[in-house]
Amino acid sequence: MENSDNKDSLKRDRRDFIKTTGAVALAGAGLVLAGKVIADSGSGDTETGKLTTHLLPKLPYAYNALAPYIDEETMTLHHSKHHQAYVDGLNKAESELARMRASGDYTLIEYWSKKASFNGGGHALHSLFWSILAPASTGSLKGQGGIPPEGALLQKIVEDFGSFENLKKQFSEAAIKVEGSGWAVLAHRKSDNRLIIHQIENQHKLSSFDETPILVLDVWEHAYYISYRNKRADYVNAWWNIVNWMAVSKNLG
Ligand code: MN
Repeated sequence: MENSDNKDSLKRDRRDFIKTTGAVALAGAGLVLAGKVIADSGSGDTETGKLTTHLLPKLPYAYNALAPYIDEETMTLHHSKHHQAYVDGLNKAESELARMRASGDYTLIEYWSKKASFNGGGHALHSLFWSILAPASTGSLKGQGGIPPEGALLQKIVEDFGSFENLKKQFSEAAIKVEGSGWAVLAHRKSDNRLIIHQIENQHKLSSFDETPILVLDVWEHAYYISYRNKRADYVNAWWNIVNWMAVSKNLG
């Protein structure tokens, strides 16, 4: 009886310790997606391993900077509510997995592994999405948005798709025809050094693993419904005006 009480007490202490350490973000290498740091490394030295505190990245432009192609209210909700929810969901899922390591009770491992995958995909894809957009070059802000790709990136596009127009057509069709909620992705596949386009359902399904995404388009309704209602194709066609190909080029490396 006494041993059992001590064991329970030890488990509680471990859990409290995990809670505390999980809440503290320390400087470190961080999680890197296409060259962008999107998370701080957590602290180490726990019995159950390191926890990361994932953070909502700041936008490199104002919420109204992408109008009229993406309106201010959509940007505000999308970044501060939807993306934040994926960040919170990923932190929660990874903290629950750490709890399992502490307790040895893996009953809910399937549930929390799925949550980690869904929210982790959401966090990574949204972080990349914000980073490859910019105010339109034709608008009052005169940003980089919509200036066509040049140099090595354009060469690679022509090599792998025939032309920039071919890439846009295939990417648009992939985006418009995602079943339900998801994404279109342009990725660099390392094994044969070529660019590929594919769809993602939800935040994480249908992904290919031998690739680095360099351009992504969110086609969840939350990304466009306020301005475009049910007209996803209009949103996709308008979106090309705010793609920052300079940023995409940097992602190609
Ligand atoms: Mn989204």
